[in-house]
Amino acid sequence: VRSTNRQAAGEATATRDGRHIEVAANIATNGDARDAVDHGADAVGLLRTELLFMHRQAAPGIAEHRAAYQEIVDTLQGRSAIIRTLDVGADKSVGYLALPPEQNPALGLRGIRLAQVRPDLLDDQLRGLLAVQPFGRVRIMLPMVTDVPELLRIRARIDELAEAIGRTARIEVGVMIEVPAAALLADQLARHADFLSIGTNDLTQYTLAMDRGHPALAAQADSLHPAVLRLVDATVRGAAQHGKWVGVCGAMAADPDAVPVLVGLGVSELSVAPLAVPDVKARVRGLDYTQCRRVAAELLSLASATEVRAASRVAWPHRG
Ligand code: PEP
Ligand code: MG
Repeated sequence: VRSTNRQAAGEATATRDGRHIEVAANIATNGDARDAVDHGADAVGLLRTELLFMHRQAAPGIAEHRAAYQEIVDTLQGRSAIIRTLDVGADKSVGYLALPPEQNPALGLRGIRLAQVRPDLLDDQLRGLLAVQPFGRVRIMLPMVTDVPELLRIRARIDELAEAIGRTARIEVGVMIEVPAAALLADQLARHADFLSIGTNDLTQYTLAMDRGHPALAAQADSLHPAVLRLVDATVRGAAQHGKWVGVCGAMAADPDAVPVLVGLGVSELSVAPLAVPDVKARVRGLDYTQCRRVAAELLSLASATEVRAASRVAWPHRG
């Protein structure tokens, strides 16, 4: 089965009744980009850039950013890449940032909020990113956005920096939906964003108020919780009002129980670890979109993740 999956992996993916789903890869390095290509990813749905900032004495400069992203874009041979701006905060040990200690780092200056105190870090990253060739292969994605003014501030800064280097083509800017507020305001955000990508790892953590790394809560902190599903549903509905697409780039996107549910809720891009691409594509190809829509709508009224998982396995049986 695996080698068959692997052969079909490079081809576009649709359900049996023709709903197209983009299956993209989450990457952090150029080696990951090679794996993504080798495993048939359609695109990169999330390039995590934290690694570039870690294990060093000072933040990377513009040229370094540009070189790192250019190498990856070259490796992708025409596939598009969604580059996420820096998503460290006081919880990750980037010593040279010298951020004041926080009592609740998960609720602190993380993600795009870091730009409030260190706008220089974001500016250099954006300047490097905007210089990558060819234009049009790269999109920007902002982590931990909470509301529209935050998005508009960064969008305006991106446009300023682009103009300063003579870049005329408008770059697409998407928003990660990882804060419940953003899911609830998805209709507003989608008016101004080019796409939305749900970070279900954080969205689950913040919706259920359960630390995503807490060993004793690991089983309960399940993205298939109906509260999380309702936020996914709200996000897709909000985006649809403005004709924008919605992806999922959290671990949920590769969960075989979750894939049919996400497809049924109207998500049209799944971004997963490079090695998971073939299996996710195979899973999507076995689905019927009409059935996914009907069942997913029913699952929204269940009472727990356990019930959702059980119902998913009945509707869409799988091994493993
Ligand atoms: C997420 O939160 O689901 C996500 C994709 O971002 P990260 O795991 O890097 O926080
Ligand atoms: Mg996240």
